[in-house]
Amino acid sequence: MKKECGHSKYTNTRHEKIFQGEHFKYRAKTCSKCKAVLWDNTVQTEYNQWLNMLYKSKRHLFQVQYGLSDRGQELIEKLNESFPGVEESLLIRAMIVINMEIVEENEDILELVEKHLQSEDNTLLRAGDKINKKLQFKPNGMQEIISYADMIDEKASTIIEESLYRILLLNIKEDPEMRKYWEEVVLRNIEIILKAA
Ligand SMILES: [Zn+2]
Repeated sequence: MKKECGHSKYTNTRHEKIFQGEHFKYRAKTCSKCKAVLWDNTVQTEYNQWLNMLYKSKRHLFQVQYGLSDRGQELIEKLNESFPGVEESLLIRAMIVINMEIVEENEDILELVEKHLQSEDNTLLRAGDKINKKLQFKPNGMQEIISYADMIDEKASTIIEESLYRILLLNIKEDPEMRKYWEEVVLRNIEIILKAA
C-alpha cells in the first residue's frame, strides 16, 4: 500500500485488509495501470479507528505469547531493578523497540551482535526450559510488530524472543564495543522510552 504510484488514472474500488484474522473493508483509489491501492490519509484514519474499536472489543488480538529462557527472564528481572516502579512489560516493549528501530539499523553493531550469536554466552542465554509469557500491545505497537514480522516472514513471537535475546546479549557481553553501545545507546534509549511512557 502506497500513497502514490506515479500514474494518474484511478478507480474507486473495494478492498480488504486482514489484521489477525479480522477483515477491515474499505474503499480506496486504485491505479488503473499498475493496480496499486492508494492508501491515503482518509483510509489511514478509518483504519486507525477500526483498529481502536477492535482493541476495545478483542484485546487478545493485541497480545503475543512467547517463550523466554530462565536465564533471559533472570536478566530482565535484574535489569528491571534499575528502574524502580516500572512494570516489566513496559521494559520488555522498550527493549523490542530498541532492537527493531536502533540495533537493526546500525550495521556495525548488528554485525557485532551477529558475531556474538555464535558465542557460548548466547547458547547459555537461550538454554534450558522456556517460560511461557504474554505481552500486551497497543494498536500501533501491534501493527508494527506484525508488519515487521510479515516483512521478514517470521512470527511475532519470534521477533519478540529474538529482540530480547539480542538486547540481553549486548547487556552481558564483555566485549568493550558492545559494553559501550549498551551504556551509551541502549540504556539511554530505555530511559527515554520509559520516561515518555
Ligand atoms: Zn499506478
